[in-house]
Amino acid sequence: MMHETYFRRLVDNNHLVHAYAFTGINTAEKEKTTEYLLSLLACQNKTPEGQACGQCAVCQRIKEGNFPDVLYIEPDGRSVRVDQIRELKQWVATTPVETTFKMAVIQQADLMNTSASNALLTVLEEPVDHVYMILWVNNQANLLPTIQSRVQMVGFDEGDYQEKQQIFVEQGYSSAHAFVLSHLPSENVGLLTAAYPPGDLDQWLRDYHYYYQLLVQCEIQSFVTVETHIKKHLKPVPVALLGIDYLLFINYHLLLKVSNDNEVEAPSMYEQFFNNLIKQKNPSVSLLLDINQYLLQTKQYIQANVSPQLALEQLTINICK
Ligand SMILES: [Zn+2]
Repeated sequence: MMHETYFRRLVDNNHLVHAYAFTGINTAEKEKTTEYLLSLLACQNKTPEGQACGQCAVCQRIKEGNFPDVLYIEPDGRSVRVDQIRELKQWVATTPVETTFKMAVIQQADLMNTSASNALLTVLEEPVDHVYMILWVNNQANLLPTIQSRVQMVGFDEGDYQEKQQIFVEQGYSSAHAFVLSHLPSENVGLLTAAYPPGDLDQWLRDYHYYYQLLVQCEIQSFVTVETHIKKHLKPVPVALLGIDYLLFINYHLLLKVSNDNEVEAPSMYEQFFNNLIKQKNPSVSLLLDINQYLLQTKQYIQANVSPQLALEQLTINICK
C-alpha cells in the first residue's frame, strides 16, 4: 500500500528514476507493485486520482501477462547469465510496441553472476529516457556495490523488519531506535551500532533530524550544520552512507504523509516531528521529491569517493539554492 502511493506520486510528478531495486523477501508484494507501476505508466484512461483504470485494453493485457513492452527475466537454473543480460540490452534498444516506454524486470537479480552483473552495469550507466529497470533482489548484500549505487532501493520485507527490530531491542536499544536500525541496510548497520551503542544513538538521530528539518525549511543555515552537527558522524564512509539512507527514510515517510493518503500512517516516532515540519513549512510533494533525488545523488557522489562532508554541503546548496 505504501509503495503504491509512493510510486503514484513519482509518476504524477514525473520523478521516476531509471532503475529500482526492490529488496527483501516479500516476492508477492514485489510482483504486485511492479504490475501496479506498469499499469500506472501504460494506462491511457487514468482516473482523476491518477490511478490506472483497470478496465481498458492495456490494463487488461497487463493483468493477463500479455503486454508487449515489459520483459521479465528469470534465473536460468541457479543464476542469471550474461547472455540473458545481452538479450536484455538488445531488447532495450528496440522501440516500444504499444506505448511510449519499456520496462525490464530482472527477477532474483542477486543471482546474476559476475559477468552478468558487469553487463548490466553497462546498461545502467547509459540510461535510456523511456526505459525503466526493476531489479528484484532477495538479499541486497549480494548486489555489486557499483550496481547498488546506480539503482534506488525500495524495501519489501515488513515481516523481516519486526524480527530485526526485536534483535536490536535485545541489544538494549529502545523500540523506536530499534525500528530505525531495522530499516537501514543491514550489511552496514553493524558499523553503526558499533560506533553508537544504545546510549549514544540518540545523538546521531537528533543531529540528522535537525539537519533534515533545516533542509526541508530550505534554511541556508543547514550548510553550517554539516560542520557543526553532522561532520562528526561521517566516519567511516559506510556510516556516512547510513546517514544518507536515514535521511532518505525520513523523507520517504514525510512524502507519504504529505501525499495525504489516508491509508498511510507515519511511524509514531515521527508524528510530532512531521506535524511541526508541516506547520512551519508545509513542504510540497515536489520539494520532497527533489530532496529524494538530491539525496540519491549525494549517495552516488560518496560512493564515487567524493568526501562525505563535501557531498553533503553540495546537497545543502542544491536544496537551498
Ligand atoms: Zn487502463
